[in-house]
Amino acid sequence: MSSITELVSKQRDFFNQNTTRDLAFRIEQLKKLKSVLKDYEDDLLEALKQDIRKPSLEAYGAEIGILYWEIDHILKHIKSWAEPERVTGSLINFPSSNYIYPQPYGVALVIGAWNYPLLLSLSPALGAIAAGNCTIVKPSEISGHTSTILAEMINSNFEDGYLNVVEGAVDTTQGLLNEPLDYIFFTGSTRVGKIIMKKAAEQLTPLTLELGGKSPAIVHSDADVEIAAKRIAWGKFINAGQTCVAPDYIYVQEDIEETLLKHLTEEIRNFYGYEPEKSPDYARIINTKHFNRLKKYLEDGTLVTGGQTNEQDLFIAPTVLKNIDWNDNIMQEEIFGPILPVMSYKELSDIIATVRSKPSPLSLYFFSEDESLQEKIIEELPFGGGCINDTIAHLGNLNLPFGGLGQSGFGSYHGKRSFDLFSHKKSIVKKPTWPDNPMRYAPYSGKLKWL
Ligand code: NAD
Repeated sequence: MSSITELVSKQRDFFNQNTTRDLAFRIEQLKKLKSVLKDYEDDLLEALKQDIRKPSLEAYGAEIGILYWEIDHILKHIKSWAEPERVTGSLINFPSSNYIYPQPYGVALVIGAWNYPLLLSLSPALGAIAAGNCTIVKPSEISGHTSTILAEMINSNFEDGYLNVVEGAVDTTQGLLNEPLDYIFFTGSTRVGKIIMKKAAEQLTPLTLELGGKSPAIVHSDADVEIAAKRIAWGKFINAGQTCVAPDYIYVQEDIEETLLKHLTEEIRNFYGYEPEKSPDYARIINTKHFNRLKKYLEDGTLVTGGQTNEQDLFIAPTVLKNIDWNDNIMQEEIFGPILPVMSYKELSDIIATVRSKPSPLSLYFFSEDESLQEKIIEELPFGGGCINDTIAHLGNLNLPFGGLGQSGFGSYHGKRSFDLFSHKKSIVKKPTWPDNPMRYAPYSGKLKWL
């Protein structure tokens, strides 16, 4: 038996002992995870710096701090979430009491991406743990420093067979997917999402796919242009644009395009100074492969600001391009880097048709003061989730489900949704043995007239 086969079978044995069904056990594990995270905080900040030069404030605010917040939220609500829910009975089953029991699936696999390597590995795992599953976490090999610390932190503090981190690349993930799993949670690209779904189909394993896409920011003529520029620049250039919900491109009403470009240029300077390469607050591109992929996009359109690169340092300046259209290379795939193409439109109705004709993005951001237009965008455009007059803020509320649609994935998590995602809902009707309605039993002769 390979070690992966052994691990999955060990997890199944652990699950079958029913230890994880005990709510007190789950609560204890979540508390332990919070305390272990605290112990490893400095190591994690350092690993995130080494992987992607993530500024400590971003690493804390968008990874470690979110995990503490989410653990506290789960601990506050887990008792009520885990209770069987009593629902109204039906006449046909009278008398009876009816319940929905949230049940753990068993062995869950969480596959993470490299851009928020800690958060995207552990945040789904919190839901799996809270719901009472045994969990294997496979962080991205591309963010290798974080993966190593994560493996050390989890594997040396949690019982082997209950919660494990497995490090490795494609072969390791494929090995895990060959095993009988009870739930798969994948964060990553649409291309690999399709591979994962095919593997899951072989064993009919339920799964969630958290993927990416080209998330538009639409700035309408009546928007507060200065605020729009500031909030788009923040959402785009945090983590050097390597954020699944970053605004991928801007559609701006043509009358305000020049004003928006002026404010974008100013905000980038306000954030990172005249030489962003020297800013301690600006991350780097994850590796040379992605650096070279992104650098090609700089040939498109007309440069508004940025454009500087340094391959040794994996630096690409926060860049804005104009005179872009859908035929340009940069508009063919999710950018996933600090290059922001801007396109303009005359009438909002023109771009509604265009955006609708593209794969559904993970997010969409609309800047306008007009409430009827806001509702029109929300109603008529397909996308996972988003904001009005802001970017990324929809991730800042654990009461909002987070997930994609179509090519950007399916299933959603965060807060209670994470608990629900990793719980099978078992429907139970409890009946007394008396009375026993004779109507349903054969022979049926003469009974139809009573229905
Ligand atoms: P990726 O798809 O290349 O890799 C994700 C994971 O899949 C990694 O753990 C990797 O080891 C594994 N993997 C890669 N190839 C595989 C294969 N052939 N078989 C099995 N496993 C394989 O994605 P990435 O480059 O790490 O992340 C970037 C993408 O993820 C972007 O598209 C981004 O939008 C998306 N993303 C989505 C979310 C979200 O929450 N929806 C969050 C972050 C990133």
